[in-house]
Amino acid sequence: MSRAKNPTPETERWFPNSMPAPMVDHHTLPFWEACSEHRLTVQRCTACNHAQHPPAPICSACRGNDFEQAEVSGKGTLYTYTAVHQPITYEEKLPFIIAVVELDVSGTGCANSVRMMTNIVDADDGDLRIGQAVVIAWEKVSDSVSIPRFKLDGLSLQQ
Ligand SMILES: [Zn+2]
Repeated sequence: MSRAKNPTPETERWFPNSMPAPMVDHHTLPFWEACSEHRLTVQRCTACNHAQHPPAPICSACRGNDFEQAEVSGKGTLYTYTAVHQPITYEEKLPFIIAVVELDVSGTGCANSVRMMTNIVDADDGDLRIGQAVVIAWEKVSDSVSIPRFKLDGLSLQQ
């Protein structure tokens, strides 16, 4: 495959348009707005700095209800994963990977690490190992919706 004619796009598509769109509500809107700007954020409690994802109305550590969105680096480690061989929707490439990624929150002021359910793209399940380094891969669905997926971090593979 020649890449010269088709330079690497800013974002790629890994899932078909027939996938359900994210459900957005008052609590998740700041997260999805940041995603549309390709910034990955977690909800951080202003009272105790507890970080959580997905966004929720109440801090699970102190029951506070005032939050900021803390921007994280987009790096993380593979906490767990599974390969899905049954399609959710038509035109879906199989198998695909559902994963939980532990996000690197260093330098964010967050009091704890955060795990995010996501997908690992551009990798076969045989390539994956728990604890591998991963990095964000944005999937732009529209001008207002981008979804955070993850890829294996190429730098760590060379070690
Ligand atoms: Zn709190």
